[in-house]
Amino acid sequence: MRIHRLFVLFALAAMLLPTGSSAASNPIDPQIASMVSAVNAPSLRHWDSGLLVFGTRNLFSEQLNNPRRGVFAARDWIKSEFEKIAATSGGRMTVALDEYTQPKTDNTPRDVLVSSVVATLKGDDPSGRTYVMTSHYDSRNSDGNDATKDAPGADDNGSGVSAVLEAARVMAPHHFHGTLIFATYDGEEQGLFGSAHHAKVLHDAGVPVLANLNNDIMGSSTAHDGTSDPYEVRLFSEAIPPGETPKHINALGAENDSPSRDLARFVKSISEAYVPSMHARLIFRSDRFLRGGDQQSFAAQGFEAVRFVEPHEVYRHQHQDVRIENGIQYGDLQRYMDFDYLTRVTRMNVASLAALALGPAQPQKVEMLTKVLAYDTTLRWTAVPGARSYEVLWRATAAPLWEHSRNVGNVTQVMLPVSKDDFVFAVNAVDAQGHHSPAVFPVPVKE
Ligand SMILES: [Zn+2]
Repeated sequence: MRIHRLFVLFALAAMLLPTGSSAASNPIDPQIASMVSAVNAPSLRHWDSGLLVFGTRNLFSEQLNNPRRGVFAARDWIKSEFEKIAATSGGRMTVALDEYTQPKTDNTPRDVLVSSVVATLKGDDPSGRTYVMTSHYDSRNSDGNDATKDAPGADDNGSGVSAVLEAARVMAPHHFHGTLIFATYDGEEQGLFGSAHHAKVLHDAGVPVLANLNNDIMGSSTAHDGTSDPYEVRLFSEAIPPGETPKHINALGAENDSPSRDLARFVKSISEAYVPSMHARLIFRSDRFLRGGDQQSFAAQGFEAVRFVEPHEVYRHQHQDVRIENGIQYGDLQRYMDFDYLTRVTRMNVASLAALALGPAQPQKVEMLTKVLAYDTTLRWTAVPGARSYEVLWRATAAPLWEHSRNVGNVTQVMLPVSKDDFVFAVNAVDAQGHHSPAVFPVPVKE
């Protein structure tokens, strides 16, 4: 009986498997397309300009007690903007502060209250699956602990905060299956303080966070040499999740398929489908050398996380006192921003978040059967609510992106006439509207 069923699956797979099949295109959902097109440059400029009013948003400017200057004045403004957005959600969006007192460190002068602003748009899936878009709203100048001189931070990270507010604005009126969190963190510049605290809060509360899209320095398309690259963004993803060992990863054959890296492939695929002018350049690294970002706080808690960052950074515009030296302007000023570029990158975020939260859950317990030597590949998984069918993706082991895909119908096991030794596989779920979940890498099992 079992042999018969596997033979049928084999025959079905062989029938469905033309030579030269390629990774599936993503059908465009008009609801997602309408959210994506609602993101606009004047609105993003409005958010960025709003942040610049406060002069500095340095972590240690919290005691200025000035409603027009300092990090907590900026925080209060962000919170009030989120509350206006929440009013369009029919009571599904709540806004809260995530706060704690950070003790003095070797690099900081004193204890300080870290206060982040978090808006949560509740989805209808009882599992509570959650997707988190993040940025940091604090800023710095040449001295990371200077609380008095200006630190405009128009791009680092006014761009990311503007993107998060804009995404919340266009998404709040819509209903999703997954829960969406829009976060703007404090204390990133001194050591990812705000995000480390919030990611741990989510982890300790057992919140099923399935993706973090972090945005930090993604509002300028011009390089240090004046050249421009307005249709490209870098997307960073780490190789090795916490708790994994190189030995185990070798045994899995998962050298290039950490959950974060497969999330990056998903985000690239969806965001390029909805924003076809843009190219997401995957960088298979956690972050840039000498730099870090809030996605690392999520990754440290075992959550899948990626970071958007502009293609070429200009260091004289980052972490610098605003000044002119030898005729060169230093400082993170709004004049160097490209709001049309920021619009496109924000749209990539909105498309990815909407596809995640409107789509089906990922298949569970995805396994590849390896008990006996065989010339083919057998995969199995557990069905998930909302899925109408499942899709198998595969690629050569040395290829960076999925090369082939095949919808195998509403089954939970399939045999493909392709050698498991020569390819990397994954399985995703597809719902009635054609939304795909992110793909899940199969664990090899000997049973
Ligand atoms: Zn930053």
